[in-house]
Amino acid sequence: MSKQSANNANAYTASTKSVTLKIDGSTGEGGGQIIRTALSLSMLTGIPIEIFNIRAGRAKPGLMRQHLMCVQASQQISNASVSGAVLGSSSFHFVPSTIKSGDYHFGIGSAGSTSLVLQTLLPALFFANTDQSAHSTVTIKGGTHNPLAPTTDFLQQAFVPALAKLGIQVDIECVQAGFAPIGGGLIKTTITPFMRRADSKPLHLTERGALTNIALVASVLNLEYDIGKRELTSAKAVLLETGMDDTLITTQANKLDGIGEGNTCYAQVTHECGDHLHHEIFTLLGEKRTSAEKIGYRLAGLVKRYLFKTDALVDEYLTDQLLLPLALSGGGEFTARIISQHTETQAWLIKQFLPVDIKFEAIGDQKTLVRVIC
Ligand code: AMP
Repeated sequence: MSKQSANNANAYTASTKSVTLKIDGSTGEGGGQIIRTALSLSMLTGIPIEIFNIRAGRAKPGLMRQHLMCVQASQQISNASVSGAVLGSSSFHFVPSTIKSGDYHFGIGSAGSTSLVLQTLLPALFFANTDQSAHSTVTIKGGTHNPLAPTTDFLQQAFVPALAKLGIQVDIECVQAGFAPIGGGLIKTTITPFMRRADSKPLHLTERGALTNIALVASVLNLEYDIGKRELTSAKAVLLETGMDDTLITTQANKLDGIGEGNTCYAQVTHECGDHLHHEIFTLLGEKRTSAEKIGYRLAGLVKRYLFKTDALVDEYLTDQLLLPLALSGGGEFTARIISQHTETQAWLIKQFLPVDIKFEAIGDQKTLVRVIC
């Protein structure tokens, strides 16, 4: 993609092609990610898409409510014509028109992940308008803390700071927390249109510098406050056993607002990287019949794996989530702990739409250099 087209949504829509790109939804990881990324890229490039074999390998194949919301929300912001998208469908056809910035409100109607719906819309709204004053707001009702998806905390503490390094500005507020099965969470996001500066440099996130902080945070929604405190005590004790400096670890217990019940904890691990800081976050949800101590122990285990088994900067989930923003903002490179099937599938799909190259070069057996070349 040329610098000019990265700067200008009109350049994307001007290159609108009428030939539909047919995408086999069972390719690679074969989950909801293919639907979301294909929608984002269809809106941005103007290329119509037909996705078939949707989530073919999953226990409940086809479009679930959260995926349908992604299609409907994308339809709204890009004034698209859509056929075949209903609950359970195994295929649909999506023909985008012009992306419009604005104030949008979406309700998933279940505890489906608000983060995943938001991530579908963000790329389109970053490029919706070259007028920097044309901010968009997106309010989404549903789950904020879901298994197998980034929580709102993950977006705020890891994804948003990583986007900021690319010059992409977004602000996410968790107005109300929502956990399965009830949902009822609400996030409000303000999106600043992205303008690539002529002097901006490609992302370079490769060398892990000094560890500056591990912030342990545990939160409860309408459950005993003590649960979060016990998780923190347990996680901190395991980390201290490794000989880690006590002053590097902070703890914070919160009570969340919202309906229903839930518990989550996370560790935000911060390292120096050149003149930047890099934040990784590891998240767990409380489980019935699993003690708070066990959850804290598991959280510390995720941190230990990242700290001691690799010196890569980016962990599994941020790796697949960074590829598209990187491909759209000029490219760059970073070291990844692991290349998941989600990441491989994401790289394959991005290359179906954009003239970019995405390369994975193993460095020893404990990290990989990911290069996105625009
Ligand atoms: P899919 O399974 O295709 O719906 O995609 C799931 C998405 O959620 C991927 O982008 C993963 O990186 C992300 N994800 C899954 N689990 C986590 C987690 N614990 N923390 C952050 N992101 C996650």
